[in-house]
Amino acid sequence: MNGTVIVTYRCNARCSMCNRYKAPSKPEEEISIETIRKLPKMYFTNITGGEPFIRTDLKDIVRELYKKSDRIVISTNGFFTDRIVELCREFPQIGIRISIEGLEKTNNEIRGLENGFQRGYETLKKLREMGMKDVGFGMTVQDKNAPDLVPLYKISDEMGMEFATASLHNSFYFVEAKNIIHDRPMVAQNFEDLVNELLNSKSPKKWFRAYFNHGLINYIYGQKRLLPCDMSFDTFFIDPYGDVMPCNGTKDKEVMGNLNRQSWDELWNSPEAEEVRKKVRCCDRDCWMIGSVSPAMHKYIWVPMWWIVRHKLKFWKKKKYSMYENKIVRDYRDHKVSKEELDKCSTCDLCAVINDGLSEASKEQLKEKTGEEIVAADLAAQMKE
Ligand code: SF4
Ligand code: SF4
Repeated sequence: MNGTVIVTYRCNARCSMCNRYKAPSKPEEEISIETIRKLPKMYFTNITGGEPFIRTDLKDIVRELYKKSDRIVISTNGFFTDRIVELCREFPQIGIRISIEGLEKTNNEIRGLENGFQRGYETLKKLREMGMKDVGFGMTVQDKNAPDLVPLYKISDEMGMEFATASLHNSFYFVEAKNIIHDRPMVAQNFEDLVNELLNSKSPKKWFRAYFNHGLINYIYGQKRLLPCDMSFDTFFIDPYGDVMPCNGTKDKEVMGNLNRQSWDELWNSPEAEEVRKKVRCCDRDCWMIGSVSPAMHKYIWVPMWWIVRHKLKFWKKKKYSMYENKIVRDYRDHKVSKEELDKCSTCDLCAVINDGLSEASKEQLKEKTGEEIVAADLAAQMKE
């Protein structure tokens, strides 16, 4: 099993591509240690949010998850440096991925956090100094930050860190339906440059990352996934309310069962879970996020392997990969397909009614205050304690 635990929907950032900060969960309702104890054995667990470090009991959650998971990675915006450092002192084997959306100016504009870049960068440096091995950057590539992609990769490389990429997605999880790449050739060109950097490295792990980024070019042009999506078969997400879902890419929340009320076996083998699996089999959203692609790359390993071999064989060439290997990129260049046609292939829907996946009680609190006000008050109370 590969699992992602969304420990909270509260977030202190204001990202331009995600409205989750406007739709926080109520702390009293967030996933408890008792529910976490019911999760199955996993080979990999991702802890995410919202911003997971807003939870003051994150250490207890991690301690519990280590009893059932071989490897844990926490995705964070890196703002709460002291909390991150403290947790890493107790769990030096843990992985930390800090989202940095570009160089300083771009990052701060996209993330909407004062000094967000400096805080994220300082946190990464501190973790490195502590001797933490599994730390890295995560970047969601869009029109605004695409030119920063390779420069940011080079910074991560110099620091000896992992570099994870994503692109814009729409779903209930991001409380967003209007995300779209506008200048596809420009963004693809930056991905192409990154793919070549990765292919020219000596690290096999980076060669697989090159394949993943090749898949991102395919994704932003709205094409079918390069690998099947097997979410909900051996991979799951659990949200702050204990609802188990196949993934975080669906338009509306798809629920297989609830772990607060059910046992894992009951939930996983339920008719509701089977219904969701049927939907996944014919899902046409064609996401390309590491959460659903990494398990597929392991399962269908010969596909990325063969792609890597074909490109590595061009050992005399510095530029081993061209985005024009993708037919759709050539077709767009040659005006065989229009921007409007490609836009229609994306999940962007300007008229969509967005389901934020909140419980009734969490929705209720939004009648009095905004999500930003609720989280700010919550953080102020935490600071007093
Ligand atoms: S992308 Fe992450 S950090 Fe940004 S608002 Fe959404 S949950 Fe918060
Ligand atoms: S393609 Fe896979 S990850 Fe994306 S929404 Fe469909 S089932 Fe979820």
